[in-house]
Amino acid sequence: MGSREKPVPIDEEILERLNRGILQRTGVYRTNVHIVLRSGRHTSEYVAKALVTTEPAFTEGLGDIIATHFGRYQVDLVLTTGYGAGLLGHCVARAHPARPRFIFATKGKAGGRTEVALQPEYRAFFAEGGRVLIIEDILTTGETVKQLIKLVDSMGGQVVGIGAIWRRSGRVKFKYPVFTVVTRDFPTYAPSECPMCRQGIPITENPEHGSSEGDPEE
Ligand SMILES: [Zn+2]
Repeated sequence: MGSREKPVPIDEEILERLNRGILQRTGVYRTNVHIVLRSGRHTSEYVAKALVTTEPAFTEGLGDIIATHFGRYQVDLVLTTGYGAGLLGHCVARAHPARPRFIFATKGKAGGRTEVALQPEYRAFFAEGGRVLIIEDILTTGETVKQLIKLVDSMGGQVVGIGAIWRRSGRVKFKYPVFTVVTRDFPTYAPSECPMCRQGIPITENPEHGSSEGDPEE
């Protein structure tokens, strides 16, 4: 039945909308809110970074989607930073057919700049095979990933791709293949031009306010 017909590929935009719906169900993605960002600008949408990895089976599912996308790539190492990204990176490495190792770099700030450093124990892995898949949870400015790319270069490795759950802006580009489950930028407004303010909608409390890890603008 219908075997002569080729399956119709799901439109990317539809797939993204489905993925956004799933993230919304978990509470990761909130809409119809009225949040004040650190910049002072207002927005009606929000991704709760801290909630991305709170449902293990869901994190594994997301890891599986990213691993499947990069399934045909030869990967020796999956590299991340941060706790949430690390949990996701573990799930990607676990699901990838090449059985890559999972390693992480520590992240810090120096003079207002993001810096990453590799655990010394991990350096030897690059000599065994340095094809690296970089994993992030939320890509906003891409600054952390840029630092990870530099780190891989300095170790003599090669970046094979970058995977993340959410890319906040399509303008964040790299010379390597990028795969994100969702790519969506939120509109933000100056308080004087905010449509929610004009409608008298009260400000929603930002659940992660004061936490740099969950800053919606990072
Ligand atoms: Zn407003």
